[in-house]
Amino acid sequence: MAALGSQNVQDAAIDVDPYAVLSNGDPSRLSVRSRHRLLEALGKLEVDDPFFRRVDRWRSFSASGFFTPDIVDAIRPMIVREGGGDLRALLLELLSGSPAVTSLRPELEAIVLDAAATSQCRRAALDCLVNEKLDLAFMVDPLIASATNEALRLAAKIVGYLGVARLPREKLRDLLLACANLYPVDPRERERVIGSRYFIRILVRDFDADLCGWLLDEITRGLTCTCGARSWDCHCRDGISKIAGHLLDRYFDIAEAPRDPARIWGWLKPLHFHRSASAKDSPAVRVLHEEHHLRREIQRLMFEGLTTREAMIDQGIDRYGHAGLSFQHDDIRPMMDHAIATGNVELWDVFVYSHNFYRARGERGPDELRHYARQQAHQNPDFLARWALRQRRQFRSWREMRDRRNRSQARWRRRERAGEEAAVRSLTNDRSLIEAGLHRWWLAHIARYYLIQPDEMQELTHGLIDVDAALRNYLRVLGDDIPTLEQCALGTARASVVGSGLVLVS
Ligand SMILES: [Zn+2]
Repeated sequence: MAALGSQNVQDAAIDVDPYAVLSNGDPSRLSVRSRHRLLEALGKLEVDDPFFRRVDRWRSFSASGFFTPDIVDAIRPMIVREGGGDLRALLLELLSGSPAVTSLRPELEAIVLDAAATSQCRRAALDCLVNEKLDLAFMVDPLIASATNEALRLAAKIVGYLGVARLPREKLRDLLLACANLYPVDPRERERVIGSRYFIRILVRDFDADLCGWLLDEITRGLTCTCGARSWDCHCRDGISKIAGHLLDRYFDIAEAPRDPARIWGWLKPLHFHRSASAKDSPAVRVLHEEHHLRREIQRLMFEGLTTREAMIDQGIDRYGHAGLSFQHDDIRPMMDHAIATGNVELWDVFVYSHNFYRARGERGPDELRHYARQQAHQNPDFLARWALRQRRQFRSWREMRDRRNRSQARWRRRERAGEEAAVRSLTNDRSLIEAGLHRWWLAHIARYYLIQPDEMQELTHGLIDVDAALRNYLRVLGDDIPTLEQCALGTARASVVGSGLVLVS
């Protein structure tokens, strides 16, 4: 209505509600004078009410026709200055796609690079530049150097807009290395913004297999723990491992077979994960789980160069490695074959299953893998010697365990027997007191059994006590201590559990 009306009507509408004129009308049809007046009115509105957009902030509308060249000079100071309210971001959002962007380019580039500007303004400024299809490659370096979450997100957006092929690979590597620092080093630190690193996933989706491979070579080369903490406390490689995890997922999603196991192991070896991904969520885990040949080739490489049993066991049960390499049942036999083929007695010993002495006799049955191991051992004296040693060692440890268990059971049985004997002695000695209703401790015990587990009374008293007579006498002895039903209902009586129990018995 404001746009269609006369100058006076336009002025009046602008004075009443400038934001409504901009957002609900067609501001491109306003006269040049009214546009200036509208900008001025919006400036005043922000002073009076900085967050004048309120929930409307999430609404987007187009007013690009409003920003004609004749008002560019009026807009310029308004977008350069941070007013502390909604206006700057609003103007930057509306500017996108308008012809004024070209003449405001230096200001917009400065906003994108300005670490003090709000993320809303920086993103809106970048959107303006991207929509104009301008060359923005020069902004990537300063944004990487800035290294904040917002700067790296903007850099990733520029990379996505330019296309990864337009940038040198080294720049992408530097960007990913900077992104690795966005992951918290202290796991107890709470994330302030959920999903603040999601842009890394989006960025990696644009990479081809060759680029992923090159980047993985680069970011894992020389990677090692620098904090010296034990595995469960080491977080110094968390960020880079996460980035490598994204690259691996992308790589396994698109790389054609055959894949080079040695190169893949080179990537995976230094990575450190505190949570293992599932095959459902991670293409790398899925492919490594499904491609048995590739996984087993890598598993062989995992043990290369290891000489001690401890080192091999540590490698075999490494809970912080890539989830795709975890051993499946059918991986054991190929590892035993590999150990035999390479004459590696220690490795073979680590993978041979132990005899399960503790399984029930009927369930033991012939263990296929152990049977296979025995056959293997008989082909080579070194392996046979180790087999015999294993058998002796296992039998000895089983016997020690058995003896220890027997000793502790005997101790327990002795204590049990002593308790029984003492009870029988006490029942025999105090029988007359108990049956006369005078031995409070025994009678409380007997009353509880009488109510709760009467079928075990024989075990308690060993048939030495006339239970009914004892309880009858006990009731008589308690006499006045037993509360009346009325007192029970009022909850005023101070009666023992046994006393109340006896009321119920009687
Ligand atoms: Zn570390």
